Amino acid sequence: MEKKNPCIVMVPSPGLSHLIPLVEFSKRLLSFQRENLHVKFIVPTLGAPSSSMKSILNNSLPPNSSFIILPQINIEDLTEKSDPATQMKETVKHSLPFIHQELTSLSFTNHLVAILFSLFSTDVIDLASEFNLLTYLFYASGATLFSFCFHFPQLDQEADDSSKNSLLELTDPVHVPGCSVPFQVKDLPDPVLFERSSEVYKSFLAVVKKYSLVDGVIMNTFTDLEPDAVRALQQEQNNNGEKNVPFVYPIGPIIQSETSNEVNKLECLTWLDNQPPRSVLFISFGSGGTLSQEQLNEIAFGLELSGHKFLWVVRAPSNFGGSAYLSQQKEDPLHYLPSGFVERTKGQGLVIPSWAPQIEILGHGSIGAFLSHCGWNSTLESVSHGVPVIAWPLFAEQRMNAVLLKDVFKVAVRPEANEDGIVKREEVARVVKGIMKENEEGLEMRKRIKELSDAAAAALSENGSSMKTLSSLALKWQSI
Ligand code: UDP
Repeated sequence: MEKKNPCIVMVPSPGLSHLIPLVEFSKRLLSFQRENLHVKFIVPTLGAPSSSMKSILNNSLPPNSSFIILPQINIEDLTEKSDPATQMKETVKHSLPFIHQELTSLSFTNHLVAILFSLFSTDVIDLASEFNLLTYLFYASGATLFSFCFHFPQLDQEADDSSKNSLLELTDPVHVPGCSVPFQVKDLPDPVLFERSSEVYKSFLAVVKKYSLVDGVIMNTFTDLEPDAVRALQQEQNNNGEKNVPFVYPIGPIIQSETSNEVNKLECLTWLDNQPPRSVLFISFGSGGTLSQEQLNEIAFGLELSGHKFLWVVRAPSNFGGSAYLSQQKEDPLHYLPSGFVERTKGQGLVIPSWAPQIEILGHGSIGAFLSHCGWNSTLESVSHGVPVIAWPLFAEQRMNAVLLKDVFKVAVRPEANEDGIVKREEVARVVKGIMKENEEGLEMRKRIKELSDAAAAALSENGSSMKTLSSLALKWQSI
């Protein structure tokens, strides 16, 4: 009988920030190729697939990989219409019959070895045993967040024991195993701040409870970035043996080497080429972060006040920070800037609607700092390129990342909001001037982020910690 090729199946959760790291991971994995290992992306989508998603799948997948975009799930079919995390989970759940169908047809021609799925796709575990697949959570975030999520059922139990309806009623900061800095409850990921009886909270709890069922957790971090958190998780695994604590595999930082989406690329890079070294502040809120109209105005006026150069990716305002995350905006965002702003700042800054080639921008010598919403990919991209951060978290787990960046990695400043949650223009100007002028604190941050950037490169070098981990996984999968 003809030998079937080993195949690794990837099921990203909807959203670019889940797809991008899995694609990059596949490139690295297949570069270890000895046998005829194949990677198949099975991609659930909420609504019509975005052009960025199609562009990545069509242009960025490595040889020996292929993809299928599953029939789209419509938002009307979901019970949850506002929380992105629950929407992602529900989308994957609704897609399970299609995933099953794909696995069945793949199994005729391939030897299915393992299935990797991201954060909100844990329901695919239910299909794994039928196809005899090893299960791996591909955790596109870091070890500290995983450690929090893994221990979150205990925190829920404590809240239950003391009859709390919401974790917000807990007054003490939360200690996460492996993190030296405790987290204020308000900085925990969005879903856990909902009422404990809400669908969003229960759905998140159900997702993290499944973490203990997987064969391993592949994490987009590196040991030198989060040494204590990685150690704490490995220690727990050692102490518990096979019981309910999965193996952790830190294989990061996995970031894009170049953007596959050409939107605004030439304009941004040409403009940056004409700026002095380290003179430009880059401002971006990830693949879908949005600000209120008032906050948009305050940033605009604050940038003018600061006098520093900037490159700003602007989105149309919304009162919900993640409103463009799973849907595309149709209006022209530049219409929402204060009247005359673009003309007044012509020599000072460049404003780009909705999307920019972030990885090329962060790697450009003219960039001096990054005002970021602290998504984990952006965090790793900043660290890898040695760019200090003004931390401006909006939603999801971004507040925890902001705490890590500022208080644990010590490579960020965080502006103060007023009692209405707005960062006023004077505060914007203050933090921008502080980080761009390279005062003592700024220089210290720059030194620290350079060390982390070197450590990131070392982790990915031939004998680096992440490369060794990845090669051991590749060997394991090829030998099954
Ligand atoms: N990104 C980009 N251009 C943009 C906005 C985002 O290339 O204008 C990329 C960015 O480099 C990162 C990803 O999209 O790789 C965003 O992921 P992150 O985890 O930072 O944030 P999220 O989109 O999940 O909020």
